[in-house]
Amino acid sequence: MKIARRDINQRMARFEDVCRKSGAKLTHQRMEIFREVAQTGDHPDVEKVFQGVRKRIPTVSMDTVYRTLWWLKDLGLITVLGPPRERARFDANLGRHHHFVCTQCGRTRDFYSDQFDKLELPESVQSFGHVEMTQVEVKGICLKCTAKNQEV
Ligand SMILES: [Zn+2]
Ligand SMILES: [Zn+2]
Repeated sequence: MKIARRDINQRMARFEDVCRKSGAKLTHQRMEIFREVAQTGDHPDVEKVFQGVRKRIPTVSMDTVYRTLWWLKDLGLITVLGPPRERARFDANLGRHHHFVCTQCGRTRDFYSDQFDKLELPESVQSFGHVEMTQVEVKGICLKCTAKNQEV
């Protein structure tokens, strides 16, 4: 899923802004790693980001990509989708949205819903802790996997 050029530019501009304000060095490598997440709606995992960045920076290491992604998360530039940590997926969409998750391949898509944004939680949730945000996760089998399953 391609992200509109205008949105990518906006994300890159925010990245530069946040880096500057936090006093972090704006290296080419960091920028390319962020771009890899910013330009897709696929919620890539570390491996996928690494493969993409390596096409442009052949010397980049998996370890650097891994550390940079968590650093971007600490800066609030991307969010991380659910445990376990090794299979974590990264999301540069900081707007209010919800997810469709394929239980077979893990592919995750964004969708928007005013109704879900206003979701009222049962009081019992308060007993677990303080709620920061509510995000709906819909699980199913994506079209690609459905097609693949039918091929056999
Ligand atoms: Zn799938
Ligand atoms: Zn998302």
